[in-house]
Amino acid sequence: MLTVSNYHYIRENFEANYPSIFGLTPSVFEKQLLSLNDIGKFIHPTDLIKNLDEILQSKQNYLLVTFDDGLKEQFEYGLPILDELGIPAIFFANSKNFEDKKVSTVHKIHLLRSIMDPADFLNSIENIDKIDFSESEKNKAQKIYVYDDKKSAELKYLLNFKMAYDKQELIINKVFNSHFEEAIVLEKLYMSNENLLNLAKRGYLGSHTHNHYPLGLIDLGSIKFELEHSKLYFETLTNSKIEMVAYPYGNEETCTLEVAAIAKNVGYKIGFTTKRGNNTLAEKPLLLNRFDCNDLPGGKNYK
Ligand SMILES: [Zn+2]
Repeated sequence: MLTVSNYHYIRENFEANYPSIFGLTPSVFEKQLLSLNDIGKFIHPTDLIKNLDEILQSKQNYLLVTFDDGLKEQFEYGLPILDELGIPAIFFANSKNFEDKKVSTVHKIHLLRSIMDPADFLNSIENIDKIDFSESEKNKAQKIYVYDDKKSAELKYLLNFKMAYDKQELIINKVFNSHFEEAIVLEKLYMSNENLLNLAKRGYLGSHTHNHYPLGLIDLGSIKFELEHSKLYFETLTNSKIEMVAYPYGNEETCTLEVAAIAKNVGYKIGFTTKRGNNTLAEKPLLLNRFDCNDLPGGKNYK
């Protein structure tokens, strides 16, 4: 059996005017690794690829640590703790951040939400593009985001359900550029090329696609590009094999059978969703389950 624990942000301080970036501090991360150590045996990504079937059908519980988004803080704060404990991991990065030197839209949204009141954020979007929010849509937003205030719920609904992702990208870029310097954010937020080379040499690098788009919701040609291009880019950059992919968002509508088939076709051996659960031989190698770290022992939602 294989249990996968997934991480994003690892930083000392998550304080913000409007908290919207969540993750673990290095000390909480370390504590969780020690708790996980009690429920299984950590496995190296290269060994997982080599012995996948054996691991999935084993009675022994194997554990894999994964990181999404190729963030510098994962390399700076996460990796030294892993190394000290002798625990391997895999880091899934987006090639767009390195090849095009652009910040992913998903991270632009995180950053904007951390500095802006939701009402101001909505207003700046409205200044660029007219938003037609019907009363029934406003009610729907409130029902989906029950824990959010009215404006936050509307903002989330707008970004997640109402705007096509390509249009969203254009609008978010405009708002982002009026608050941030992209080159500075890029440098601070993402790993360096040296970091990638270091990880690849150890078999620790995987693809999180090129653009961080929701694969199941885009056309087939784009799905293939997202998967294949990022693989080739990282392979050429690091002179190593990239055989694992973590699909952005990882929910059911983004990780379809078609997405898994294309991933296999372009040469991936293992693909990860964010569907909660352990993995046995019943799972498809290109659609393996992954827990958010908070849902596992040592995590804040674990009971
Ligand atoms: Zn991601």
